[in-house]
Amino acid sequence: MDKKTILVVGAHMDDCEIGAGGLIIKAVRKGHRVVLVNVATDYSTWSTTKGREEEIKAKVLNKAKEMKVEKRLLGYGYQSVIFNLESLKKMAEIILDVRPDITLFHNRFEREPSDHAVVGEITQHAVFSANQLLGGKHISYGMEMYSYEVYPKYPFQPDTYIDISDVIKETVETIDYFGREIYAGSPSAKSCAVIQSKININYLENKEISLWHYGETKLALSLYRGAQCGVRFAEAYTAMNKKVLGKRLLQEIVED
Ligand SMILES: [Zn+2]
Repeated sequence: MDKKTILVVGAHMDDCEIGAGGLIIKAVRKGHRVVLVNVATDYSTWSTTKGREEEIKAKVLNKAKEMKVEKRLLGYGYQSVIFNLESLKKMAEIILDVRPDITLFHNRFEREPSDHAVVGEITQHAVFSANQLLGGKHISYGMEMYSYEVYPKYPFQPDTYIDISDVIKETVETIDYFGREIYAGSPSAKSCAVIQSKININYLENKEISLWHYGETKLALSLYRGAQCGVRFAEAYTAMNKKVLGKRLLQEIVED
């Protein structure tokens, strides 16, 4: 199939990878273009990253380079992203510039941290209303939209599953990078990510690995979503525009 562009928008540095890491890795392997947007990237506004801003930025961008994805940092403060005309226009400009075929963003029910819900709302509205937001230009990009899940404690009713069994190790290790390289160096690490687990399962090549809690949660959630759809590990999505359900470009782009 033609090479497609997938836009994944997340509030924080690792949200895109947590929510859609398996899909991202599979899409890149198939030669598709993947653009990740991180909205709240003023690292001086979060105690976990304050004082290490340049180091964090370099690590975030280096990881993106290693993953062969584009990563754009929008510079908003943590817990300071607001649904208003300025943020909507900024997102509409990104959509016009990136020209995605598919857009992925946060589950709108993830209200803690509130950046997640707000960024989801901004992205969906900007895709739908890019024409009006940018002065009546004819713009129609990224209309196949899905929300992804980061925290499994909020309402989320998936209708689309991606089998990530072949990339589960890479997916979990990608998420774990942020724990090892960024949260671990934080003076407030105890409050945000001290849980480490020793996990030894055959699907991870029978190796024992230590995971920070986001990696561990992803592993468990992928196993659960896989059980729901009949594969070993899966990622779950909710289609925002139900018309796409008959087409499912999202699934086509990762098929063999
Ligand atoms: Zn987040």
